[in-house]
Amino acid sequence: MKRIALLTCPKAENVCTGGGCFAALNSRTKAFTLYKGEDVEVLAFMKCSGCGHFPGEDAGLDEKIQYLLNRHPDVVHLGICCCHDGRQRELCREIAVICRIFEKHGISIMRGTHSVF
Ligand code: SF4
Repeated sequence: MKRIALLTCPKAENVCTGGGCFAALNSRTKAFTLYKGEDVEVLAFMKCSGCGHFPGEDAGLDEKIQYLLNRHPDVVHLGICCCHDGRQRELCREIAVICRIFEKHGISIMRGTHSVF
């Protein structure tokens, strides 16, 4: 049994239901092929707290991060929406800082859900 969380961009909610991520997860395709034949528990479908909101400067964001640190998923999967430039596939600085905190606590980061980047 793997315990995972998804991290995505709140701006994407204008056009995104999250269905693509869950379809890939349910069918164990794209970034989720590594869980083929294995049960997965989804602990959270977390959003960042918006552009310019960094850990240590935003109490709500800190609370979300702490929640996940307490639950300690095996892997946090990043949605493609976590890249500020779709073509360059470069993570937003806010997301990169959040990921470093997770990694520092032994939580793996996987760049991808229905898209792997
Ligand atoms: S920092 Fe990146 S992931 Fe977060 S809201 Fe802004 S564009 Fe979206």
